[in-house]
Amino acid sequence: AKSAGGNRYEIADPELDARAITRHGLTTALPAALERGEFFIEYQPLVHMDDGSVHGAEALVRWHHPQHGVLGPDQFIPLAEHTGLIVPLGRWVLQEAVRQAMYWQENHADGGPLRINVNLSPTQLHHPGLVTDTVAVLEGSGLAPGALCLEVTESALIGADEQLLKPLRQLADMGVDIALDDFGTGYSNLANLRRLPVSVLKLDRSFTQGMQHLPVDPVDVKIVEGIVSLAHSLELAVTVEGVETGAQAEQLRELGCDTAQGWYYARPGPPDRLHALSLADAV
Ligand code: C2E
Ligand code: CA
Ligand code: CA
Ligand code: CA
Repeated sequence: AKSAGGNRYEIADPELDARAITRHGLTTALPAALERGEFFIEYQPLVHMDDGSVHGAEALVRWHHPQHGVLGPDQFIPLAEHTGLIVPLGRWVLQEAVRQAMYWQENHADGGPLRINVNLSPTQLHHPGLVTDTVAVLEGSGLAPGALCLEVTESALIGADEQLLKPLRQLADMGVDIALDDFGTGYSNLANLRRLPVSVLKLDRSFTQGMQHLPVDPVDVKIVEGIVSLAHSLELAVTVEGVETGAQAEQLRELGCDTAQGWYYARPGPPDRLHALSLADAV
């Protein structure tokens, strides 16, 4: 290796550099990708734990990249966050997901409400247009505010002041549900929950992973039991994420979780599939 006075631009790890180029390449390609319509949404059903019926769906964005194939949100959302493109991208996701939810509502066999969950990133939360954009999308589509749930990660709300909470409060007052996503990963003060305008806790996958196979760790059970009873005493609904096995589903249902999401029920997929699911369900 070169020592003092050596080439500062020496490439230490070619792989790392390749990754950096990809990151850079992806970041600069984002705006055109949005314009060209390379993003699409997969929907994953949320089911009622008591009878397995479909409660709604979470919108999960993907990027069909012309060279790299389909990229998952973990590969580009952080980049979009960093550059601010998340604001127009998030607006597109909201608009598209709400349009789809309206379609489902109008074509659902029993005409029952089908709810739609959309993820909000921290940058969107700080963006001054959040409330007006959301209201415009809802009014433009005719979807009732009560059919929309915005998911905000627990970590984005840790230490949030009133200023940051205000837009969420306004949306909640209109009837939009706010869910605390990835709950349990952010070490937030449980007492803090009371002052957040949230109506749903989404229990992170890490809590339920240990319940995939029997026997289940009794400590895991106690923790989930505690969170569910706390949530219910605060009148929050509990959704569990990442349910992959029947054993897990049964355990979590017994523990009083309200709704669930996971591969055991369905993987994220194209909108037609969920349409078929909910119709089958209503028969
Ligand atoms: P998330 O909001 O926690 O979404 C749940 C993730 O868990 C999704 O990954 C989903 O595909 C995955 N998942 C669902 N069921 C199971 C299961 O049973 N087992 C396992 N192992 N995984 C399961 P995905 O689609 O890759 O999304 C990753 C993250 O990207 C999301 O985590 C969310 O934070 C973010 N994201 C997705 N779409 C959007 C979006 O439109 N806007 C923003 N800001 N973020 C988004
Ligand atoms: Ca989510
Ligand atoms: Ca989550
Ligand atoms: Ca997560």
